[in-house]
Amino acid sequence: MNIPFVDLKQQYLSIKEDIDAGIRGVIENTSFVGGKYVKDFENSFAEAYGVKHVISCANGTDSLYIIMKMLGIGEGDEVITVANSWISSSETITQTGAKPVFVDIHPDYYSMDENLFEQAISPNTKAVILVHLHGQMADIETIEAICKARGIYIIEDCAQSHFSEYKGIKAGVRGIAGSFSFYPGKNLGAYGDAGAIITNDDELATKIRMFANHGALTKHQHQIEGINSRLDSIQAAILSAKLPNIHRWTEQRINNAALYQEHLKDVEEIVLPAVRPNSKHTFHLYIIRTKEREALMQFLKQKGIETAIHYPTALPNLKAYQYLGYTPQQFPISTQYQDEILSLPMYPELKADEIQYVAQAIKEFYKQ
Ligand SMILES: *Cc1c(COP(=O)(O)O)cnc(C)c1O
Repeated sequence: MNIPFVDLKQQYLSIKEDIDAGIRGVIENTSFVGGKYVKDFENSFAEAYGVKHVISCANGTDSLYIIMKMLGIGEGDEVITVANSWISSSETITQTGAKPVFVDIHPDYYSMDENLFEQAISPNTKAVILVHLHGQMADIETIEAICKARGIYIIEDCAQSHFSEYKGIKAGVRGIAGSFSFYPGKNLGAYGDAGAIITNDDELATKIRMFANHGALTKHQHQIEGINSRLDSIQAAILSAKLPNIHRWTEQRINNAALYQEHLKDVEEIVLPAVRPNSKHTFHLYIIRTKEREALMQFLKQKGIETAIHYPTALPNLKAYQYLGYTPQQFPISTQYQDEILSLPMYPELKADEIQYVAQAIKEFYKQ
């Protein structure tokens, strides 16, 4: 049996007519950037999410940068982020002129350890990029209590957590703004690069819309210098065609995670993902931990099972951050886990017998 890590083709075929009609509509209307299709997607995402403003942009990296720029973050400032994430969560801090400050991950939930957050704060701390990794929200409640007392902004990186919840509140709604990626493999994915920012703050929303579009809300009226970070209409039409299915797909991911849990719970050599109490984990990724990662990965590959690593090097351990002078010992959990984590195939269309096949292969590996 061949089981890919993700299968975007299967999903396309299941909604082919809607997708094809959306793309055809854009081409026939020749409204390729901005216009009706983009507005429609922004409105339906705002409604589905229950937020006042959705500002689409080119990708989920720009969205972080744009939020920080419009909060006035720049040179001399520090922004705290987490040691295990995709590099967008830290490189955008540097892009603004500010300095990234890393915090180690929670040993059970893999997102920022809320108990280590306060000690990373300095008089220069302006914001925290709270990453809701793998589909599970970080402990935003504890972080928020610390930030409120000190006037630190919470920017939520929701690239992996569309519609995830903690204590009934969705990812991206509680902070000053939420940043989304619609990269093809994300839980809600376009067929190219795409992103969005959500916020309930009117003034910030206006600034963000302006900055992402060359500093202008109306053509030729540039009130500030901005950047060109816009969603193109074909991506917007694809996202609009996909959005009505997101809750069904999320439920399928959750069911698939439950099946993995059921099949693998007695395998002592691996650690399964833990779900934080009172939270809705949307399983963008299904990550196990094992001391025999490389061997297991090879074994599964021979069985036709594709796996991945998110991520093989913790951010502060990357060459790109050598200049900050951190040592791996400062991030013991991230440093240990970078050699142990393994992402198993996970997508809504994955079938019960395929999950059983993956689980069977893992059990076989430990029996030999
Ligand atoms: C994917 C991702 C991003 C970046 O999104 P792009 O759309 O690829 O720019 C940012 N943060 C996290 C945690 C991600 O997983």
